[in-house]
Amino acid sequence: MKSVEQTWDLLDRHCAPLQSIQVELVSALGRILREDAVADADQPPFSRSAMDGYLVRLNEPSSVLKMVGEVTPGMGPRMPESGCALRVFTGSAVPDEGAAVVMQEDAELDGETVILRVAPAPLHVRLQGSHGRRGDVLVSAGSRLTPGRIALLATAGITRPKVSRIVQVAHVITGSEIVGSGEQPAPGQIRDSNSPMILALLRDKAGVECSFHRRLAESPAALKATIEEVLGAGIDLLIVSGGASVSERDHTKPVLRDTGFELLVEQVNCRPGKPLTVGIKKRLPAFGLPGNPLSHFVCFHLFVRRAIARLTGEAPPALLRMRVEDAHRVKPNPRESWLPCRLISDEAGMAAQILPWRDSSDLTALAHVHGLLRVPSEGLNRDGVGEFLPTGEFEP
Ligand code: AMP
Ligand code: MG
Repeated sequence: MKSVEQTWDLLDRHCAPLQSIQVELVSALGRILREDAVADADQPPFSRSAMDGYLVRLNEPSSVLKMVGEVTPGMGPRMPESGCALRVFTGSAVPDEGAAVVMQEDAELDGETVILRVAPAPLHVRLQGSHGRRGDVLVSAGSRLTPGRIALLATAGITRPKVSRIVQVAHVITGSEIVGSGEQPAPGQIRDSNSPMILALLRDKAGVECSFHRRLAESPAALKATIEEVLGAGIDLLIVSGGASVSERDHTKPVLRDTGFELLVEQVNCRPGKPLTVGIKKRLPAFGLPGNPLSHFVCFHLFVRRAIARLTGEAPPALLRMRVEDAHRVKPNPRESWLPCRLISDEAGMAAQILPWRDSSDLTALAHVHGLLRVPSEGLNRDGVGEFLPTGEFEP
């Protein structure tokens, strides 16, 4: 049985970044940047007024000045003569040195005359390069492109960033008891909740649409034929849901072996999620996810997300340090546990509140989950703070 860390390490070693492509800037939202975005100029690129007001000489002795013109945004900078003022606006170019902006509220305009109520001071100017210098790394390779990062790339004139191509995922559901979510289950059958979960997780966490999806009855021959089809379909990642355990009706491990996969992980010391299977064939990683819905959710976040991160060149999901509500009640377990939690915000700040779950088939906690709390086999530290993997939006 592999530990969680050993499994991460194996994924890191076997999942190599896919090739990159260039896409139009806004379409790159959610993709992983594959080369550092470097500033092509200082930011701001020239010194600019931060206020609407009057541009005067910094050492101007007089407070009564003649208005001699204006510098509108988009014009080059001008230096006023001594005894003179120029009208300036937020964003107007101003000289780097020797001039001052007096804000409109600190001056009075009387015909052609400007009367200053304060002495000129080196304020209200955003100096060239005060935000960053030409050559600075604005967004590093491996970052997921957010709207803010897209804006930074735009300032550097990067309109077609190099990003990871979309990972092509195949998802296969097994189990003779599973019927489609739109069907009425007969006695002994249950609805498929794992397919919609996986499809939604892929879209939510990785911007990935499943390019191959199939539901199969319990049959090693059908699973083998389907995996052989996947092998010829240009897929980057294979997920088989269900049948990952060790009974004679669990076919994922033997069929993966039979179709040429080396099994890197056959069990993981993790609760829920122990039957997890990880295989690799050339550069194609395959997961056998335990069918129980909560195990499915946990294994996706702990392991599938990490594999996708490696395939796209992204850093693996980070663990946060999080205070745990009622930490003294958390019992140790021989298997490392990853417990669904919701985040609460109280007078002491943010904390993880463990959601009740009866067993790994209990989906109810997923209505409220914000993340997974790691409880090592020896239990939580006495400080009541644990490692926390966010899984979704925090909406208190
Ligand atoms: P398995 O990994 O196939 O042994 O399945 C473990 C448990 O998860 C069984 O109780 C299955 O009925 C259940 N299960 C398997 N696949 C799904 C699915 N797609 N949706 C909901 N439950 C499932
Ligand atoms: Mg099954």
